[in-house]
Amino acid sequence: MLAMVVDNPGKPLRKVEVPTPRPGPGQLLIQVHACAVCRTDLHIVDGELTQAKLPLIPGHEIVGTVAKLGHGVSQFKIGERVGVPWLGWTCGSCSYCQSSQENLCDHARFTGYTLAGGYAEYTVADQRFCFPIADSYSDAEAAPLLCAGLIGYRSLVKAGNGKRLGIYGFGAAAHIVAQVAKYQQREIYAFTRPGDNQAQQFAMSLGATWAGDSSESPPHKLDAAIIFAPAGELVPQALKAVSKGGTVVCGGIHMSDIPSFPYSILWEERTITSVANLTRSDGAEFMALAPKVPVRCEVETFPLAAANDALHRLRSGKIKGAAVLMSSVAKI
Ligand SMILES: [Zn+2]
Ligand SMILES: [Zn+2]
Repeated sequence: MLAMVVDNPGKPLRKVEVPTPRPGPGQLLIQVHACAVCRTDLHIVDGELTQAKLPLIPGHEIVGTVAKLGHGVSQFKIGERVGVPWLGWTCGSCSYCQSSQENLCDHARFTGYTLAGGYAEYTVADQRFCFPIADSYSDAEAAPLLCAGLIGYRSLVKAGNGKRLGIYGFGAAAHIVAQVAKYQQREIYAFTRPGDNQAQQFAMSLGATWAGDSSESPPHKLDAAIIFAPAGELVPQALKAVSKGGTVVCGGIHMSDIPSFPYSILWEERTITSVANLTRSDGAEFMALAPKVPVRCEVETFPLAAANDALHRLRSGKIKGAAVLMSSVAKI
């Protein structure tokens, strides 16, 4: 099969022919139709995340059809469409797994990081961590739901139920979260890179109440803010924008250092928290909610072999919505 592989962080992915994997017990062999490109993939390719199992096939927002069943698979049938997220395996026995926090499992394995991912024509995945995909979504549109959607949703839940929600960094996750927040009748305040009028217009088109530069103050104090951009300097900015008792959620896996800030902007019971990974119940909840909203994903598609172009465009902030790699069998 064709695969795009990370050999050395900092270098472009290499296009290679590798043997098609075989599904082990409890695993599905999946013919990949679409795999969205996440900012986490950039952090892996750039070497900012150091636990990658090299050489690595990245990609953890996978949509495909079941091509073969491993021994003991009962949840899915051949030909069924499935989604594979970032959380690929957990131990089931550590204190986190035992307390509904499998996202923090001490021994977790992650798709496209410590397990082979979806920048390939086929992949294998543990059936227990796969989700069915609603028929109302095309392959390309469903792919970003698997991480931008799931992690975005977990971030939104962590932000609490306040009405005024700030979102810093208006990329793939934000454009999905904005639609869910709007459905929940919240007001969205979108913050983008200074001068990024296109992203600000995009946010307004999705129903944002206000959009502006990340250096600006919103017209009202916010109840909560989610930071999707990997820029630590946004943490004090967001703290200044939230009201007493407000929450700032850092939604990414990696962020540049947070500069020091005066205690007064944290005081009055403001909270800073982060989101790590997802649980299967986040996934089930969100994948059921998305078609009801309905969440529509804006996607820019690329052939699988053009993964380096997609990563480059994402790095330079040029993707509107989500970048998705397509294999030749996929429906766009
Ligand atoms: Zn565990
Ligand atoms: Zn991701």
